[in-house]
Amino acid sequence: MRRLRQRVAERLAAEEGAIFKDAPIRVTVAYPNSYAVAMASLGFQTVYRLFNEEPDFAAERAFLEDAELAPAGRLPSYESFRAAGDVEIFAVSIAFELDLVNLVRLLRAAGLEPLREERGEREPLVILGGPLTSSNPWPLAPFADVILIGDGEEAIPLIAEAYRQTRDKRRFLESVEGMPGFFLPDRDEREPHWTSAPLEKLPVYSQIVSSLSEFPGAFLIEAERGCPRPCTFCLARVMYGPTRNVPAEALLAAIPEAVQKVGLVGASLSDYPYVKEVGHELLRRGVKLSVSSIRADRVDAELAQILKEGGLRTFTVAADGPSQRLRDLLKKQISEEQLLRAAEIARSLGFRGFKLYQMIGLPTETEGDIDEMLRFTAKLSQITPVTLSVSPFVPKRHTPHFGDGFAGVKIIDQRLKRIRKELRRLRPRVEVRSGSAKWAWIEAVIARGGSEVGLAALRLAEGESYSAWKRALAEVGWRDPLNQADPQGTALSFNIS
Ligand code: SF4
Repeated sequence: MRRLRQRVAERLAAEEGAIFKDAPIRVTVAYPNSYAVAMASLGFQTVYRLFNEEPDFAAERAFLEDAELAPAGRLPSYESFRAAGDVEIFAVSIAFELDLVNLVRLLRAAGLEPLREERGEREPLVILGGPLTSSNPWPLAPFADVILIGDGEEAIPLIAEAYRQTRDKRRFLESVEGMPGFFLPDRDEREPHWTSAPLEKLPVYSQIVSSLSEFPGAFLIEAERGCPRPCTFCLARVMYGPTRNVPAEALLAAIPEAVQKVGLVGASLSDYPYVKEVGHELLRRGVKLSVSSIRADRVDAELAQILKEGGLRTFTVAADGPSQRLRDLLKKQISEEQLLRAAEIARSLGFRGFKLYQMIGLPTETEGDIDEMLRFTAKLSQITPVTLSVSPFVPKRHTPHFGDGFAGVKIIDQRLKRIRKELRRLRPRVEVRSGSAKWAWIEAVIARGGSEVGLAALRLAEGESYSAWKRALAEVGWRDPLNQADPQGTALSFNIS
């Protein structure tokens, strides 16, 4: 534990804003991945703050990453170094499909039985929230007492009130049953609809600024929630509800004067109507600025200049489809001309790099679409050096692509190999980075799977791999929603309306 104590002490020393509090009802807010990723999550930070705002609650943080240095079942919290599982409420924020096995590891590391039905009445109430619970809560269902669907800003005060009235797991569950956004997997047959926090509850922002986060030293603040765009593959519109733009004045007022670096967070920030006004004001205050996303059709020289002066080095945009035909199919509303213009702006302002996101393995995709992407990347690289980031397409629930299959590991691997080979001749003007087809298949299984996928994850806590996943899925009787029994298969039946 000495090394872990030292690690925790170093991280606490690198933070501003941690809350050290004693109160009768103790809560752990845990993250199934590293400290750095957790501290870059506004959702995680918001749950931590909201529990601590309740006078009789004290929330402390714990991270799966530390299990490597902790005795089995004794994962500690950061604020008091007490056992993270020795609390009344154990709340986990989970964002990514591929953190599902990590959730099992996290519960075990805290000394808790992962399966709800194996936990006793006196063990903590396990509450799960975060983006994954809204996109597909079913693989999480075997582990949770409560799954929160939608925005947490309304839910945490309701949990606090219901829990202080009951101080008992069973009575608490009876009292929250049927509340908007509360999914009780052992009682409810269906998940509830998402809840959306009203604009008055926004913006949310960093409680803790850490120089050891994924965004070192940045004060993160959410300028908008939701997205007005119709991109068919993206959950931003369905998951976050109606678009809520925080007025510039409210946003700026929430940023402390002493802050040196601001990370603006939002699904489509270049659509945020006050992005330039906020940007100019932050530059006037001498603050460094970064944004989480820029759309090529919205960027102009003024916005690019703000980002450049704010310290942005690499200009990043998404095409998300290798050809115009596929971008139109996805309703991405981005053209080659707009991408070329964005590259021209990046070059003229002296950005060091230009990064372009692409997806492959899309419904109806052919080699002809890949040809178009290769031609276009070559053209783009004549303007500026390009980092091409290629990800396999993962169809999600709640999107029109739910009925589409995963393209197949073999097809995606072949196309990735071809892309890398044909663009090699353009090095160093073009650098290709790509995701893994096998892990994308696992992600796709989790993204559309049921509780049996959670039970498969339970078998994988000691070691996760593509073949281990396939074995575990077979053992729990998993069936592909499209009867696509062979994930290596090459034949696809796409049906997009
Ligand atoms: S891909 Fe971007 S622009 Fe499209 S819906 Fe999602 S967040 Fe909005």
